[in-house]
Amino acid sequence: MSSACLFCRIISGEIPATKVYEDDRIVAFNDINPQAPMHVLVVPREHIETVNDLDAAHDPLVGAMVRRAAALAAARGFSASGYRTVFNCNADAGQMVFHLHLHVLGGRKLTWPPG
Ligand code: AMP
Ligand code: ZN
Repeated sequence: MSSACLFCRIISGEIPATKVYEDDRIVAFNDINPQAPMHVLVVPREHIETVNDLDAAHDPLVGAMVRRAAALAAARGFSASGYRTVFNCNADAGQMVFHLHLHVLGGRKLTWPPG
């Protein structure tokens, strides 16, 4: 837990967010500035800054995050129609919050390549 970190403060409940899932390793909440009808952030409770900071010990955690993204999209009915999962890493990807998070976007046709 980093008291300076926005997502750590959301996880602890210090800052409000609309949580849609939580367990002992993961919290998921709605993005405050949604880019699609579904825009959820799947976040580990552990403070990990970027994808670059993952090691092999995190493999089960990352697997659980990806599978949770799929389950949340399935619950919204998007399994067949499709959805997007994104980890932004550092400046060129536009990462703004340096606590690992998986964006889950669905409910509209998404363009490719992204901007
Ligand atoms: P990234 O650019 O990958 O770091 O994405 C950070 C995301 O966090 C953006 O989509 C923001 O809209 C979102 N965000 C920022 N502050 C909050 C907040 N207080 N609650 C929920 N989502 C937030
Ligand atoms: Zn954090």
